[in-house]
Amino acid sequence: MKKDDCLFCKIANGEIPSITIYEDEFHRVFFDINPASKGHCLIVPKDHYDDIFDIDEAAGGRLFSLATRVSKALKKELDLEGMNIVQNNGTIAGQTVFHFHMHLIPRYQGDTVNVGWKPGEADMDALSELAKKVGDSI
Ligand code: AMP
Ligand code: ZN
Repeated sequence: MKKDDCLFCKIANGEIPSITIYEDEFHRVFFDINPASKGHCLIVPKDHYDDIFDIDEAAGGRLFSLATRVSKALKKELDLEGMNIVQNNGTIAGQTVFHFHMHLIPRYQGDTVNVGWKPGEADMDALSELAKKVGDSI
């Protein structure tokens, strides 16, 4: 389903132009308008989902399946040395467009891409407890 006044609904469904790399029944893949590196593109479902918490497994599976194909095509056509796949959910996580999307960010020697966090300290007992709790919820 589409959502009124959603930028990516409009782009995905062709109402707002984009530099499209690929399109099928379910998705549009287009270049990010403010690329982090050469080839930075977005994979967007044509149906509206706010974020990962809103998407169903079948749609999520299709999206990642397509990400594998697009990644390989980018690798074939660009001189990239690596790839970050970034998918932000929620303002706190850096999401600015609230229609699910995956960033494919090719990496090159000396680029200025910054995807990271400060490694923390693990509390093994707390992690074991949490593993059981979350595992039981899956
Ligand atoms: P996020 O911060 O994960 O929500 O990412 C949103 C991304 O959408 C940013 O990298 C923007 O540069 C990109 N973006 C916003 N508007 C457009 C547009 N009209 N065409 C292409 N990319 C866009
Ligand atoms: Zn939307």
